[in-house]
Amino acid sequence: MSIKYIFITGGVVSSLGKGLTSASIGQLLEGRGLKIAMLKFDPYLNVDPGTMNPFQHGEVYVTDDGGETDLDLGHYYRFTKASLSRVSNATSGQIYDTVIKRERRGDYLGKTVQVIPHITDEIKSRILTCAKQEEGTQVVLVEIGGTVGDIESLPFMEAIRQFRYERPKDCINIHLTYVPYLKAAGEVKTKPTQHSVQVLREIGIMPDMILCRCEKPLAEELKAKISLFCSVPQEAVIDEKDVEQSIYEVPVDLHNQKIDDMICRMLDLKAPPSDLTEWKKMLHVVLNPKQPPVRIGIVGKYMDHQDAYKSVFESLYHGAIANETSLEIIRFESDAIEKGIEGCDGYLVPGGFGERGWEGKILAARYCRENKIPYFGICLGMQVMLVEFARNVLKLDGAHSTEVDPNTEHPIISMLSEQRKIKNLGGTMRLGAYPCNLLEKSLAFEAYGKKLISERHRHRYEFNNDYKSAFEEKGMRFTGVFEKENLCEISEIADHPWMLGVQFHPEFKSKPVSPHPLFTQFVQACLLASRANASGGAPHAAHRGG
Ligand code: GLN
Repeated sequence: MSIKYIFITGGVVSSLGKGLTSASIGQLLEGRGLKIAMLKFDPYLNVDPGTMNPFQHGEVYVTDDGGETDLDLGHYYRFTKASLSRVSNATSGQIYDTVIKRERRGDYLGKTVQVIPHITDEIKSRILTCAKQEEGTQVVLVEIGGTVGDIESLPFMEAIRQFRYERPKDCINIHLTYVPYLKAAGEVKTKPTQHSVQVLREIGIMPDMILCRCEKPLAEELKAKISLFCSVPQEAVIDEKDVEQSIYEVPVDLHNQKIDDMICRMLDLKAPPSDLTEWKKMLHVVLNPKQPPVRIGIVGKYMDHQDAYKSVFESLYHGAIANETSLEIIRFESDAIEKGIEGCDGYLVPGGFGERGWEGKILAARYCRENKIPYFGICLGMQVMLVEFARNVLKLDGAHSTEVDPNTEHPIISMLSEQRKIKNLGGTMRLGAYPCNLLEKSLAFEAYGKKLISERHRHRYEFNNDYKSAFEEKGMRFTGVFEKENLCEISEIADHPWMLGVQFHPEFKSKPVSPHPLFTQFVQACLLASRANASGGAPHAAHRGG
């Protein structure tokens, strides 16, 4: 049977949760036993989001093969089993770059190189590459970033129009719009949806299904109105209302409106009904936590931004699910913590770049070390934990990372010689999956339950092994090592209930139905600390091997 394609576009406004919706649909189709692939197109000109500030773009999600990709791939990972790699995300920048390089090589000799057909052909070929990435793929979900009507997304729209024209039986378009409730008028308005579908039609795209983001379920008469104006059957006008408590409710809500039945019918896919047992079991735990919330502080630089630490937030929730507890996250801006950060059961310092906020993170690490409060340092969070230890335990004044102080007397964190030779900033970090060997009798080994793990990286700087024995003498344990290059990947403080840093990003590999072991163990340590705090005693040591 031919491969089927679902194109997901968005209208009216951005930030409607197209990624979440695409991931949810992917999950429902997988639940029916179909093998899916997922692809996100981003209309901006950066070759990847790696060089963008998190305020601009939110988190950069990293794949095993070292792709620096859009954060929607994080949703795809958490909701589905689709395999994700560099081919799962493409930007206009990447597409133009490929076409222009080809032009310089002379591949189009004699021709004028144009948006249509050269750019659109490249877009179409990327859809096919994604479809062929894994043998047996039956459905490809293609999400087009941006909003219909944007100048920059036009080549993508044109490409999917052509793609469907060439395969009329194998494609459908799902359009996600916003149906606002106007408080002053006391009415729900469908006009923006009508207009955005009009724009789609001008481009030559007819939606097969309209998903309406709304505050409350849409009345049937409103669905009938949208159906009539947009030429979509009423049953294919679906409401995607704001979820009550958790984004993990979305697939279930959509399934209850029979979206996956309808997609299978439209694409002539023969598949048994969706099996959501495992997901619903997880959701039950989320909605009915057995314990009062554990309070975890995150000390970072972009705390105001909803999505800058998306995967970290989600992974903490997964850790809470594994411990059947609820979770309250307290945000601390690392360059404004003069008032202190007291009051949480544990703290997490996520990844980051540059000087701003460093000293605040050092304060957080010191506070946790001295008061034996659980601390989880991720990437920069581990580097900070080690620099703090050097300054205040090893008494190495001015110890630093050469990222911030290139002339420090004690370069605890420094750049590898290979990295020093690199001039370009885009795509040149230590990126993607690397193996790591764990030391038995460590928190890390206890969490993973195996000696060899693989985790994803995105950084330039590393722990400087010249200081390793001095650290070990004072109680730092390096419990995870990338043996080939002798790089320290995990550090733990021996005389502490749970103070652990990782040079990699475990948050990219956590799912609500299979929480990452380090997040599970960290939340467990925070729970123990919260119980100890409640009973007025000293925090207990989390159960540990040695
Ligand atoms: N800035 C640090 C480095 O490049 C840490 C990066 C990160 O936290 N992702 O090594």
